[in-house]
Amino acid sequence: MSRVYNFSAGPAVLPEEVLKEAMDEMMEYQGTGMSVMEMSHRSSAFQKIIDEAEADLRDLMNIPDNYKVLFLQGGAALHFASVPMNLMKNGVADYIITGQWAKKAYEEAKKYGKANAIASSADETFTYIPDCSDLPIDEDADYVYICQNNTIYGTVFHELPNTKGKTLVADVSSCFLSEPIDVEKYGVIYGGAQKNIGPAGVQIVIIREDLLRDDLPEYVPTMMNFKVQADKGSMYNTPPCYGIYICGKVFKWIKKRGGLEAMKKYNEEKAAILYDFLDQSKLFKGTVRKEDRSLMNVPFVTGDKDMDAKFVAEAKAAGFENLKGHRTVGGMRASIYNAMPIEGVEKLVEFMKKFEEENM
Ligand SMILES: *Cc1c(COP(=O)(O)O)cnc(C)c1O
Repeated sequence: MSRVYNFSAGPAVLPEEVLKEAMDEMMEYQGTGMSVMEMSHRSSAFQKIIDEAEADLRDLMNIPDNYKVLFLQGGAALHFASVPMNLMKNGVADYIITGQWAKKAYEEAKKYGKANAIASSADETFTYIPDCSDLPIDEDADYVYICQNNTIYGTVFHELPNTKGKTLVADVSSCFLSEPIDVEKYGVIYGGAQKNIGPAGVQIVIIREDLLRDDLPEYVPTMMNFKVQADKGSMYNTPPCYGIYICGKVFKWIKKRGGLEAMKKYNEEKAAILYDFLDQSKLFKGTVRKEDRSLMNVPFVTGDKDMDAKFVAEAKAAGFENLKGHRTVGGMRASIYNAMPIEGVEKLVEFMKKFEEENM
């Protein structure tokens, strides 16, 4: 077996311990005589899996009792629609546009009400986070929306926007569980599992109870009705059982490693290795304003397309996979999620140094 260092933005690297455990339990899960994949979602064995996953997530994130945790499907992209469907009471929402995912969410929301783009960093290809201390928040806004970590551009909100009392909604797909957050500052926190938590197919939605409504418009599909999903314990229909099982294992893996404070420290250490190198490199440079750099996604360029392509190809041959930047921005991007070991980043930097010497 030969595993590479996988810098994919998502689906992405998972902890080897988790994969091995899943392998050991593949044919028979804990005395049940079957794989988790073959199990009824109404069985007591699966109920225990989902209950434990929720309990561990609550523990890790310190989720208060007045928040519901949902394990859904459909991709973050589906929830670009379910968020406005469920939350637009006045029919108004404010969006901060810090990249393609925020923009897509904004475009989707426009189908269901009035969506305002109240700030944007499009003017400099989303390489920074706009000043959000005093935005023109709509008086009638049902919520203010951010994409907290911008997977494609490598920026992050180190500080949350001043929503002037309005409910904050955040897509945290690519920074979920990368560091502690104060759940109470949000009305809804949601994201796909496939970046930092587990396999594709699971969406985690954490929603404050008072935002769950009985008076949704008729057109809202039952599957997208957060209140129904909360009342049914995420089991209005068959949930993504196997994915939830793997997420649960990742939660336990993070707990074992000391929780989110420890994850943050580790992620800072990893990111610093790469950023420190980029800051003194003569060939490579980071593309993001320093204050807004993400711990999870690190985009960089040489400034020459052919050189970028050469680097990506040689890196791949040396066992560093998926370093090509997003198809819409080019260059390179190293996604260094929780499960990327520090050795992976150290070796990548070694390789970059060598490449620089050979190509300068
Ligand atoms: C990947 C990603 C998405 C899209 O997720 P899908 O599960 O493919 O719908 C949305 N938002 C962010 C921040 C992402 O990184």
